[in-house]
Amino acid sequence: MRLVDRHERPLHDLRISITDRCNFRCTYCMPREHFGPEHDFLKREALLTYEEITTVVRALLPTGLRKVRLTGGEPLLRRDITTLIAMIRQVGPDLDVALTTNGVLLKRHAVGLREAGLDRVTVSLDAMDQTVFQAMADTTQHTPDDIMEGIDHALSAGLGVKVNTVVQKNINEEQILKLAAACVERNISIRFIEYMDVGNTNAWVFDEVVSGAEIRRRLAEQYGALIPEKPKHKGEVARRYKTKAGAEFGFIESVTNPFCGNCTRARLSAHGSLYTCLFSSKGNDLRGLLRMGADEAALSLAIRSIWERRDDRYSVDRATIEEHQPKVEMSFIGG
Ligand code: SAM
Ligand code: SF4
Ligand code: SF4
Repeated sequence: MRLVDRHERPLHDLRISITDRCNFRCTYCMPREHFGPEHDFLKREALLTYEEITTVVRALLPTGLRKVRLTGGEPLLRRDITTLIAMIRQVGPDLDVALTTNGVLLKRHAVGLREAGLDRVTVSLDAMDQTVFQAMADTTQHTPDDIMEGIDHALSAGLGVKVNTVVQKNINEEQILKLAAACVERNISIRFIEYMDVGNTNAWVFDEVVSGAEIRRRLAEQYGALIPEKPKHKGEVARRYKTKAGAEFGFIESVTNPFCGNCTRARLSAHGSLYTCLFSSKGNDLRGLLRMGADEAALSLAIRSIWERRDDRYSVDRATIEEHQPKVEMSFIGG
């Protein structure tokens, strides 16, 4: 049954954060001063169980769900994640099932993820130089080589692979060409993401944003003119370009070129709230419904009424919003 929000946007994608914990402390996402040892992470019983997550997916299938992405926090930290993937694959044989990860644990899990039915991984990597990488991820334990090894294992296991890079002014601009070269060499697509004002803790300022246009200018100096590609489907957030030689670069320009008009994503937080925008202040509690015994039909009705009321277009309105409300943290609802 057709389901659209107030701007005629369907619900095609569900992003599911399966944990709010992470083994990195990226300064733009989980700055250590806010996510230190005293931070109150969710207790195990607060997290949606795999059965509960699968019920939400099942409830959304009749309303047109096409794609599920597992994220976090760092999703590979959650125990037995392959069990969840196999459960989702079983209820939605035709779903596109993807996962976003920082890549540290990918080497260990790639084959199991593929065998459980995962289609694709997006690996976040912001630098090829160890010093820049470690400063951005605020870690001393891992290196870009670890992540590249994870990527190579994922490719060998038969997973589709993309790389995501957040670009911050004066921090990793010099890494753009190095990262592009590593991806071109492997024939995988890299998507450059404009630094966003997600959450309340990263002290975002517009001056630290490097626009997609500026990144394209730098890439064109190395690769020649970039030719825009047609979107593969409505709701594609990355604007894709190809070089003459066929290398693909994507740009997620949610600050300088927002794409709210095509936003078909709902987000399920680790503790079972449904958010209709990355920048929402408030979620809609599905865990309460599930734990009161709601079956998938009841859940489907509840989600339908949430989506039909959806009016979000934060990125389009960003510059004119007079009073910003506190936003949910990215690690909580998943990027
Ligand atoms: N831990 C996993 C990872 O890093 O891939 C999954 C969760 S992470 C929140 C998902 C994506 O959000 C990552 O690609 C990350 O770079 C991106 N992200 C986090 N904070 C961001 C910000 N302030 N601006 C732009 N992208 C951000
Ligand atoms: Fe962790 Fe991913 Fe956020 Fe970095 S971006 S702190 S890896 S959740
Ligand atoms: Fe979608 Fe909200 Fe981002 Fe706009 S700001 S694209 S509505 S998540």
